Amino acid sequence: MSVSPTAAVDRQRIEADIVCVGFGPATAGFLTTLSGHLLNPDGSPAIESKVAPGQPLQVICYERADDVGFGVSGVVTRARALRATFPNLEQAGIPTLTKVSDEKLVYMLDPIRASRRPLALRVADSLIRALKFALPVRFDAVELPWTPRFLRKHDGVVFSLGQFMQWVAAQIQSTGTVQIWPGMPVAQALIEDKKVIGVRLLDQGVDKNGNPSDSFAPGMDIHAPLTVVGDGPVGAVGRQLDEVFGVPPGHYAHDWAIGMKFVVDLPEDTPLKPGTVIHTFGYPEPEIFGFFYVHPDRIASLGIFVPSWFDSPVRTVYRYLQHWMLHPYLWRYLQGSKLRSWGAKTLGESGRHGEPFLVGDGYARIGEGSGSTNVLTGSGVDEAWATGVQLAEAVVELLKAGRPFTKENLEAAYVQRRRASWLEHETRIAEKSRDGFQRSFVQGIVGMLFTGLSKGRVAWPGKPLRPWQRLPSLEDYFRGRIPPDEVRKIRDDCYGRGVSAHDALMERAGWPPIPYDGQLLVSHQDALLLGGKVQAPPGYADHVLFLYPELCRRCATKLCVEVCSGQAITPGEDGVPRFEREKCVHCGACLWNCTTGLPTDPDRMAVTFRAGPGGLHSAEN
Ligand SMILES: Cc1cc2nc3c(=O)[nH]c(=O)nc-3n(C[C@H](O)[C@H](O)[C@H](O)COP(=O)(O)OP(=O)(O)OC[C@H]3O[C@@H](n4cnc5c(N)ncnc54)[C@H](O)[C@@H]3O)c2cc1C
Ligand code: SF4
Ligand code: SF4
Repeated sequence: MSVSPTAAVDRQRIEADIVCVGFGPATAGFLTTLSGHLLNPDGSPAIESKVAPGQPLQVICYERADDVGFGVSGVVTRARALRATFPNLEQAGIPTLTKVSDEKLVYMLDPIRASRRPLALRVADSLIRALKFALPVRFDAVELPWTPRFLRKHDGVVFSLGQFMQWVAAQIQSTGTVQIWPGMPVAQALIEDKKVIGVRLLDQGVDKNGNPSDSFAPGMDIHAPLTVVGDGPVGAVGRQLDEVFGVPPGHYAHDWAIGMKFVVDLPEDTPLKPGTVIHTFGYPEPEIFGFFYVHPDRIASLGIFVPSWFDSPVRTVYRYLQHWMLHPYLWRYLQGSKLRSWGAKTLGESGRHGEPFLVGDGYARIGEGSGSTNVLTGSGVDEAWATGVQLAEAVVELLKAGRPFTKENLEAAYVQRRRASWLEHETRIAEKSRDGFQRSFVQGIVGMLFTGLSKGRVAWPGKPLRPWQRLPSLEDYFRGRIPPDEVRKIRDDCYGRGVSAHDALMERAGWPPIPYDGQLLVSHQDALLLGGKVQAPPGYADHVLFLYPELCRRCATKLCVEVCSGQAITPGEDGVPRFEREKCVHCGACLWNCTTGLPTDPDRMAVTFRAGPGGLHSAEN
């Protein structure tokens, strides 16, 4: 054991050649490709370790979730990068995987007239209703006669990301060349003289405030010439690097969405064929997009995205998801279904706008946290995988040439590969596609269409604001529907009882109560309890912290409470929200759903989201 230069306590230190943060699709692509180059056919090292001479390369990956595959994602994907790695993907035996058989893009009308629709949309809705004898209007929805080419996934597949990740992890581990450790969150990157020298794992045996207990076990330091950061859109290590090294001029990560997903058993007599893909827009609020993918054996994945540009201070995803399922167009398929699993996760919607510095001395960034997600086509898994493959090829090239992992060498080997690839070409086309949503929903939809059809040459201009800068007060948001005094009374009453206010406010504004059936339509609390699928191991500090209690006390619109996917944040007695680690699903929404920017740094808010273990215990998502 030795003492780390940056620690106040004795920490175990181990040496590796490459250490990876997070095991999502990006790192899975990296490790799958890398592991194929590490041994000769006779089992001898093809590339020798620098830290353990004579041994193969020492590669370790740390994942914060309690097992691999406990992430959340759709997924429909064209799988171009995945198929390049696994040409026989369809034969891999992943139970939920099937080819896309039918694709629909559906505009949903509001059957209960509770949503907030801009004038242009209200006029369009009236026209659609008036012309329903001539238009394909069924079940309060219009199936668009064509899906724009840029959105089509006709040659793709649907599957569960969790199942896929478990299968990939087994493939990688069967090579015996790479270690993958779930349940081990990385607390931070170790940085010395502007160089990343490895990572530090989270301390264990501490109380909720981080104070050591009798079983204190300081997090290990792992030193490595290369740290691969693939910790997704809200990863603590990626954000640390952004804070320390900054981001390229003009880049920002201001656009987000929270995706919530249900996995359900459809009724026995479902008419939906495996491979059916339905994308919806227009309801429950115009800004909310929905997805519905049908797997074999009557299993379906479905859910919604609530974006940061939806200017609602009560943008509760769970409640909106239930209204979405109850829309007549979907309910005819869903009635009689049973909930198997659920989850939520943030999607980074800034795309290439949000690209950080991809490399520096001793580190490289891959996946969604590196700006790879295509915000025009709604595709992230394949792109994340592709960045991992590109980095692995670059790393093999550098190792074979005996060149160190400096910023310059990584630029030449990884960044240049990425710039020359289809990924760069397509994310550039997509770069400005969502800017119109900064102005309005209608301009956003038109802008996306223009950008897609013109291959990125035309976009609707719009300057992205930080999420907190665009939020109206509760009183303003409900103006014309609920008198301001009543809004305040409802809010104070709910917060006084320690519960969020969105249910009461939405019902007062015209949204009908949810007819719980105990099967599919279950309360948020019951969803959390479902089969013990949300857990948190003891002995860790709280990973959600309210950094400036005074700001929270003064905050009248506690968006962090309203949006929390796990009801883990509730109104506190002293005006400062309470956090219950055991209920947190690590969706990351609290990071960007705060109404208060810091005067000292408007890109940061009054709450922070750090690395932590636990969360969902399900690989079905
Ligand atoms: C509801 C939903 C539906 C989606 N649908 C689709 C779809 O249909 N098609 C599609 O292509 N894409 C879809 N996406 C997007 C897709 O899921 C992402 O683009 C993709 O998962 C990004 O992969 P990644 O490896 O970069 O990051 P992630 O998948 O986020 O993986 C990062 C990993 O790092 C881990 N991690 C984070 N911090 C730490 C830490 N400090 N220490 C250790 N581990 C850490 C996380 O637990 C996670 O496992 C969807 C996303 C959501 C939320
Ligand atoms: S974290 Fe942000 S949204 Fe939540 S109470 Fe504090 S200031 Fe308000
Ligand atoms: S506390 Fe946990 S579940 Fe709630 S918003 Fe934050 S990350 Fe999501």
